[in-house]
Amino acid sequence: MTVAPQKSFLSHKVAHFTESVIREMTRQAMLHGAINLSQGFPDFPAPAEVKQAAQQAIAADVNQYAITWGAKKLRDALVRQIGIWQGMTIDPETELTVCCGSTEAIVSTLLAVCNPGDEVIIFEPFYENYGPDSIISGAKPRFVRLHPPTTPGGEWTFDERELRAAFHHNTKAIVVNTPNNPTGKVFSRAELELIRDLCVEFNVLAITDEIYEHILYDGAQHISIATLEGMRERTVTINGMSKTYAVTGWRVGWTIAPPAITNAIRKVHDFLTVGAPAPLQEAGAAALSLPPSYYQELAEGYRVKRDHLIPVLEEVGFRCFRPRGAYYVMTDISAFGFPDDVSFAKYLVQEIGVASVPGSSFYKDPRHGAQQVRFAFCKRPETIDAAAERLRKLKKR
Ligand code: PLP
Repeated sequence: MTVAPQKSFLSHKVAHFTESVIREMTRQAMLHGAINLSQGFPDFPAPAEVKQAAQQAIAADVNQYAITWGAKKLRDALVRQIGIWQGMTIDPETELTVCCGSTEAIVSTLLAVCNPGDEVIIFEPFYENYGPDSIISGAKPRFVRLHPPTTPGGEWTFDERELRAAFHHNTKAIVVNTPNNPTGKVFSRAELELIRDLCVEFNVLAITDEIYEHILYDGAQHISIATLEGMRERTVTINGMSKTYAVTGWRVGWTIAPPAITNAIRKVHDFLTVGAPAPLQEAGAAALSLPPSYYQELAEGYRVKRDHLIPVLEEVGFRCFRPRGAYYVMTDISAFGFPDDVSFAKYLVQEIGVASVPGSSFYKDPRHGAQQVRFAFCKRPETIDAAAERLRKLKKR
């Protein structure tokens, strides 16, 4: 038997990926019996009507493959609601693709549009999938900082010159996430117009992750960059059921994009997944028929949770960056005197019994997040109370 020369069985692309820190923190929480304020999933029930719709769809034998790009009922419901929410008229036959969660929607989009040598601009701190998704797609991520507020209640902001400097002839896309994870920033119209102007000037696509669209506080307004003049033809809007309907395990999301890009996304989506879960798409159509009061109660419910957790964090020594959207709070941990966020998060999960996410996992250069950790507050009041009791031990430390 001849033996071939040594070669790696692994792709160069994945060689530099680390395991998802957020998902790892959930495992750590389980290991140490800690209260999990790390990963962004609710610990309360999903709406009864939506669950019933899923049960009925399974009972009615909607159990085979749905149309690759999405069940007609769900696409029609999306068209109706996007018309109401964004004032956008979209064609369900040529501009919509239902995917297996926003996660798949983002990577399918990047795979559909990127070529080797392309660059993708990503704001940091970032939702941790964007960088690896760009690399999987053959592109190079290029990061632009969102700078933390310097005054209490201030905004995370980007520097216009830093953003402009990131745009080049080989920039394919910019990823925008508003309302933002992890900062809670809601991009203003002026900021989105600035991004729009650069996208038009450099002929760049905007990929906008709007999964927290309905979770807004203090009068903040969500603006979809696709609705700005000149952007409809260069925007892929991504959204999903996970956060709006508290069904993160269902894996139903979608893209809205111009027909040529939709066509490309549909091909990638088909070869990757064949289609999103058929009965859960039926339930998606039911979810999208919930009345406007559902969305008001959703946002108000999360506001109450935010205002439950933040005072506790402040009482025990965290400096909180107050979110205006989404369901996370980024905090500054300098007061605790730990050398870095990872050792602090480890101490917190092992000794105090609360899981958070180390801030460095949201930055390319870990030093930028070395004194930050993120907490998720999409939890029942009793979970936040139990976390509060444990966190108070920090004060006595
Ligand atoms: N995008 C952002 C900004 C997120 O925070 C998350 C989950 O935390 C996702 C996408 C994942 O969404 P989905 O469950 O639809 O894949």
